[in-house]
Amino acid sequence: MTETSAPLASLFASALLVANDAPRHQWSEWARDAVAAAQHHCCAYCDAPLDAMCPQRWSVQPVISASLGVPAASEFLRVACKPCANAKGQQDPLAWPEWQRRMPPERVEAVLALRRTALLVAPQHLTPHRPHSPVDAVKEHLLARFAHPRFRAWAWRGREEAFVGWPMARSIHRSTREAMAVLLYGQRATRIPHPKAVLFALPSDRFLEAVWALIELHGWICPVSLHAEPAPESDDWRESWPHTFTSLQDLRRRRRAHERQPLPSPPRDQSQSPSAVSHRRAYAKRREAERRHRDAVAQAGYRSRMGHVDAGRLPPLAFEDWAELYLDSLLHRLPRAL
Ligand SMILES: [Zn+2]
Repeated sequence: MTETSAPLASLFASALLVANDAPRHQWSEWARDAVAAAQHHCCAYCDAPLDAMCPQRWSVQPVISASLGVPAASEFLRVACKPCANAKGQQDPLAWPEWQRRMPPERVEAVLALRRTALLVAPQHLTPHRPHSPVDAVKEHLLARFAHPRFRAWAWRGREEAFVGWPMARSIHRSTREAMAVLLYGQRATRIPHPKAVLFALPSDRFLEAVWALIELHGWICPVSLHAEPAPESDDWRESWPHTFTSLQDLRRRRRAHERQPLPSPPRDQSQSPSAVSHRRAYAKRREAERRHRDAVAQAGYRSRMGHVDAGRLPPLAFEDWAELYLDSLLHRLPRAL
């Protein structure tokens, strides 16, 4: 970190803390009671019966928090007993692995299905597809992102240096632990100590790669504006990271209905001759099948190792060792967007 960047990092931290401090949506007592009654006064997470006469012992909260960009709609609300509500907090249910391990798979799947529905109406960053790619291909790309817990981070890119960060939480959840591993060990970012925010600095020329790695990890990356000169934009399609879409159709077109120009796409391969096109498609299909196979093997290996750690059959890993193992498991997954 250069000497001039310390005040800039501190400005960035203040800006993200202000941006994060949006008021929470308050549900009326009537809405709360209606949701609890519709769910037969049973906790959506552990199925514990809830006393309708003691509303202080349970709460109603969105399956995935509005602070993660999901619209505050009553169909995404679930009733939770106090211990589950406290354990889950504002985080994505996927960032709460203890619950998933404890509960029967059907219960977990019911919550996760609602989570997917809610996520499909939340703001999404672009995918590396060209305009008018098949809907299924774009949706499949989004669902691969949804396999990671959603988190929110803020970013700013100056001429020399760029910053990424989020507010400090009481504990490090799965999502932020994964983002930290990618930034520190995958992107060689530098952690900057701050009392209220988790901050990273990295050279400006590595920013786009880092930010898209976070997006593929299901980060919702929000731009911060600072009174400092931002980096000049290049014609790289990844410069469109601050844009998000709430409609799959708009995302696929890479523009909103009222906008004329789509956002830039990754470059198309040069040759247009029919034999070259079919050859390229067959090759891409083969590469994709190989990638999926290697990804499945890597993911299975990671889950099996972590399963042994969680069950106490293997000792817990130090953060550095876990990060190395985790990044190895991502090797065939993340570069798709880059
Ligand atoms: Zn519960």
